[in-house]
Amino acid sequence: TPLLEAENVAYAYQNSPPALAGVSVRIEAGSKTALVGPNGAGKSTLLLMLNGMLRPASGVIRFEGRPLAYDNRSLRDLRRRVGFVFQNPDVQIVAPTVEQDVAFGPVNLGLPPDAVRQAVRDALGYVGLRGYEKRPPHHLSGGEKKRVAIAGILAMQPEVLVFDEPTSALDPASSEEVMELLDELASGGRTVLVSTHDVELAYRWADSVILMERGGVLARGAPEEVFSDH
Ligand code: ADP
Ligand code: ADP
Repeated sequence: TPLLEAENVAYAYQNSPPALAGVSVRIEAGSKTALVGPNGAGKSTLLLMLNGMLRPASGVIRFEGRPLAYDNRSLRDLRRRVGFVFQNPDVQIVAPTVEQDVAFGPVNLGLPPDAVRQAVRDALGYVGLRGYEKRPPHHLSGGEKKRVAIAGILAMQPEVLVFDEPTSALDPASSEEVMELLDELASGGRTVLVSTHDVELAYRWADSVILMERGGVLARGAPEEVFSDH
């Protein structure tokens, strides 16, 4: 069974045409999967569904083969295991210092103080932000903020990491750093799922590509197959 799966999922925002019209996708454990498509294709909507933040109007989402349950306790557990990094790090940064921000998730999970400290230290080391502990996150560069947001998710040790447009609004050097980070996460055994409108990036980075347009899936498979005739 795939680790995460959407089966025939549909969704429409209020007073809008369908954002997703019967989409089925499978995310294999340990894969690097890219959802690729133009703006408005439905990528963000699908990602939000895969970690329970949106509930499909019809169809089903499964994690480890089991349909999602939408009670608070199940959602909390799912979101710990399927970490979500928003496109805009500002919506994810909640605390006055980097250290407190990264600690937010593990504190919420009820980890004891020693474990929180360790999780924060490890996560900041991972994203290359040791020494930034006392800095106010809102004064950092775009690339640094992105890495703070990633560290905050990593501190909860999710098995799956979902990134909505991980490199949008970043300069080329910061984009490269973030993609290298995603590679390291994947080679450490985590499942990594990204959305992007950047075909080149998907081609270079992903081992599995899902091509979306207008709320539907156009093609899926290895990057060489999917992009051979597009
Ligand atoms: P993508 O991530 O591929 O850019 P989205 O999932 O954000 O696509 O959007 C899919 C469709 O749903 C688009 O037509 C978009 O305008 C619409 N949409 C997204 N979010 C909302 C919202 N909060 N309210 C109304 N329509 C939305
Ligand atoms: P993305 O590529 O992440 O979808 P968008 O510009 O499509 O970027 O959307 C940015 C934010 O605006 C998202 O939170 C999305 O839900 C919301 N949004 C997108 N389209 C609409 C819309 N037509 N009406 C209201 N909100 C929207």
